Amino acid sequence: MLGVSTAAMDRQPVGADQAFSLQVSDWPLALGPFSVQGTLSKADDGLQVAIEAHWQAEGTCDRCLGRVEVAVGGRSQALTTDLGQGETWLQVIDQEVDLTPLVEEIEILSWPAKVLCAEGCLGLCPSCGKNLNEGRCQCAETAPPGPFDQLRDLLGKDD
Ligand SMILES: [Zn+2]
Ligand SMILES: [Zn+2]
Repeated sequence: MLGVSTAAMDRQPVGADQAFSLQVSDWPLALGPFSVQGTLSKADDGLQVAIEAHWQAEGTCDRCLGRVEVAVGGRSQALTTDLGQGETWLQVIDQEVDLTPLVEEIEILSWPAKVLCAEGCLGLCPSCGKNLNEGRCQCAETAPPGPFDQLRDLLGKDD
């Protein structure tokens, strides 16, 4: 759990806020530790929690399935109260608010729609599975262009 203490906010008036910083060392896809900067603000309904974080994550190339470093990051915020409107809200347990849903939201929203190891990645051969970045396979020379080749050409043009 990515816990931040809410104890200092207990006796604060509505509108008061407090900044915090948290080091995250065990996020599933993160390639290393990263820091989360945030603010707790006293709202009419509990606390408003806003964070910002940026980190490098481990992704997979959409074409060749190779490992790719993906930069993710951004801002996210939520209340510690469920207002029943279907929005994300944060649980407070023993005076600690769990930031996990906010970090997850940043990761999902900032993850690139297309992940490639290189713009010109040739991908895997649809017949034999060979990584074509490492050289051509036998299939390319013997088989006529199939639907996968045409599809790959189409996808390639979108780049
Ligand atoms: Zn690739
Ligand atoms: Zn092949």
